[in-house]
Amino acid sequence: MKKMFFMIWLPVSILLGGILGLIYYSESESERILIETTEISHVKLQIKSIGADLDHVVSDLIFLSEQHEFHEMLESTKEYSPKDLASDFLSFSLRKGIYDQMRFIDEKGMEVVRVNYNEGNPAIVPVGELQQKGGRYYFRDTLELDKGEVFVSPLDLNIERGKIETPLKPVIRFGTPIFDARGIKRGIVVLNYLGEIMINNVKAGATTAFGDAMLINSDAYWLIGPSPEDEWGFMFEERKAKKIANVFPDAWHKISESKSGQFVNAGGLFTFETVYPLLEGQQSSSGATEPFAPSTDTLGAEDYYWKVVCHVPLDILNQRAQSLSSGFLRLYMVLLALFAVGSWFLARANVRHRKAEEKIRKLSLAVEQSPSTVVITDTKGKIEYVNPKFTQLTGYSFEEVMGRNPRILKSGRTDQGEYKRLWDSLTSGKEWRGEFCNRKKNGELYWEAASISPIKGSGNVITHYLAVKEDITEHKKAEEALESYAGMLEESNRLKELFMDIMSHDLLNPAGVVRNSSEILLDLESDDKKREVLELIRNSSSDLIETIRNASVYSKLESMERIECMVKDLGDTLKEVIEDFEYQLEDKGIEIDFIPEGKHPACVHPIIRSVFSNLISNAIKYSPHGSRIEIAIQGIDGGSQQVSIKDNGEGIPEEDKKHIFERFERLEREKAKGTGLGLAIVRRVVDLHGGKVWVEDNPEGGSIFLVNLPLEGSSKLT
Ligand code: ADP
Repeated sequence: MKKMFFMIWLPVSILLGGILGLIYYSESESERILIETTEISHVKLQIKSIGADLDHVVSDLIFLSEQHEFHEMLESTKEYSPKDLASDFLSFSLRKGIYDQMRFIDEKGMEVVRVNYNEGNPAIVPVGELQQKGGRYYFRDTLELDKGEVFVSPLDLNIERGKIETPLKPVIRFGTPIFDARGIKRGIVVLNYLGEIMINNVKAGATTAFGDAMLINSDAYWLIGPSPEDEWGFMFEERKAKKIANVFPDAWHKISESKSGQFVNAGGLFTFETVYPLLEGQQSSSGATEPFAPSTDTLGAEDYYWKVVCHVPLDILNQRAQSLSSGFLRLYMVLLALFAVGSWFLARANVRHRKAEEKIRKLSLAVEQSPSTVVITDTKGKIEYVNPKFTQLTGYSFEEVMGRNPRILKSGRTDQGEYKRLWDSLTSGKEWRGEFCNRKKNGELYWEAASISPIKGSGNVITHYLAVKEDITEHKKAEEALESYAGMLEESNRLKELFMDIMSHDLLNPAGVVRNSSEILLDLESDDKKREVLELIRNSSSDLIETIRNASVYSKLESMERIECMVKDLGDTLKEVIEDFEYQLEDKGIEIDFIPEGKHPACVHPIIRSVFSNLISNAIKYSPHGSRIEIAIQGIDGGSQQVSIKDNGEGIPEEDKKHIFERFERLEREKAKGTGLGLAIVRRVVDLHGGKVWVEDNPEGGSIFLVNLPLEGSSKLT
């Protein structure tokens, strides 16, 4: 089972590992592609957003520079009356909400109109508070431009009255010169665009990106950085070193080399694109970090750029790869466990299947090698299977009988009613047992005992019939022989009984006449010689009578299977038997000592007399002249009676004790004084009474014969 489990589970686990590995690889590839494309699209979005913001500002600037109010103001011969322009600027500032300052500065650098946004509360700056800006780089750089040209300042922090305004206010100044009707340059319009808006748009565009958004100027300073402390390094003395070029030198090298791209290095995944804020006809200067310093350089569109960078740190990339791999690992573990359960069930089913197959194999071998004939038919009686024993017995091969009906074996000697009973049993789902006399292929008849039973399939529906048959031809023959022997035995018994009857009636009478006559003659004869002969005749005729009686009794006992008994006092029976031996006792001068005390009931048949008469006769026969025979009777445990007959005769050797009760077992034939039937009769009669008889040694010399007879039970004898 264990082996089978591993045989299924291991290859599946390895295969599954391989498949999951491949899926993991392709997943991690698509994950990588997803991250890369997401980052690229975010960078593109941010670039677009920056472009759109700046375009918007430039179109606002151009629109303002072409305002009717300007021309009215500039053409007026009087002093400037900037009121209308100021109110126009005011409503523009309010509506747009993206300009921190909107100014018109005259050609001498003096602010003429200025609207401050004031965090959503725009206001026209009173004339007295207007400032001279002639020294600022943006004024100078813008005033140099031609009509329609735009100056775009670097993105830096607003400086108010010589100091960096806090909270930090990133701005880009957009300026364009204003010309009067005669084409004379009369000043500049400057819009301080709130860089925060563009920065926020860039940041907002990166919220769904995997990494951090960065906006970096061409000097490698962060405008949007990993943290606020890293930003605007070029504006603060203490942050001068906070450049991407210092933190990710390798990455910056690559980023500054190309306009756009994507790469992975030790710092993570970098996706970048360059944004050029200057449109055609626009100019910028490098700006100046000092409030009134001139701009250090004039920049063309190519030189004024920012880098939008999306940076996914390496630990985030690793974390994603790790969560993907741990997800796959978990999935692998779960699937392994599931497959383990599945494999276990499969292994179990497989083992069971194998066991079932083995069982079927054994069963089919048993059927194939069975010494009985096995036939399986369908429900219509068409043969589907026969085993080799069938072929061996009938001579028909499987091919010959396949699809045929077993009636091909019919000999016509089986009763038609038997077939009817057979089919009645089978169709009602019961087994049928019976015998057939069938015919083999060679015409020979044979007998078989058959057991035919229906085979039931699912739903208890009969699908086949199974016949298991034994060849009983030999058995039948033996039965017939036995029947004939029984007849012969009956005949011989009848003859034996006839013979015994003849013996007891026709021999006993003449023998009795001989004995009686010899006794009469003995009484009359006084001659010793003649008396000797007469005594011989008398004794021999007595033996003859005893032999005839015993033989007759024994032959009757042999065929007797049970006896009817009735309760009698054994003391009375014994007294009657002893009286019969009066003559013989006198003759041998033997005395019998028997004085029964009380009653000794036992359930006996009159034939019990033959037990006592045989034992007493033997005691007299095998005892010397003038000896004593002691007869006693006593009740013993369980209500039985025990009779003992003790003599002082020759005794019986130990090795002969178990044989003397068998028929014709005389110890010394030459000294034989009897027929050898006496003790056999005793044993048979005692057995019929359910009692027991045996012999013991008399310690004073001689034998003691003991008989136990139960009070009840002889009637139960069989
Ligand atoms: P039998 O007609 O020879 O007496 P039994 O069957 O009565 O036949 O006895 C079988 C044998 O058992 C006898 O031949 C004898 O040898 C022996 N036997 C029986 N009773 C006695 C006895 N009381 N004393 C000695 N031997 C005995």
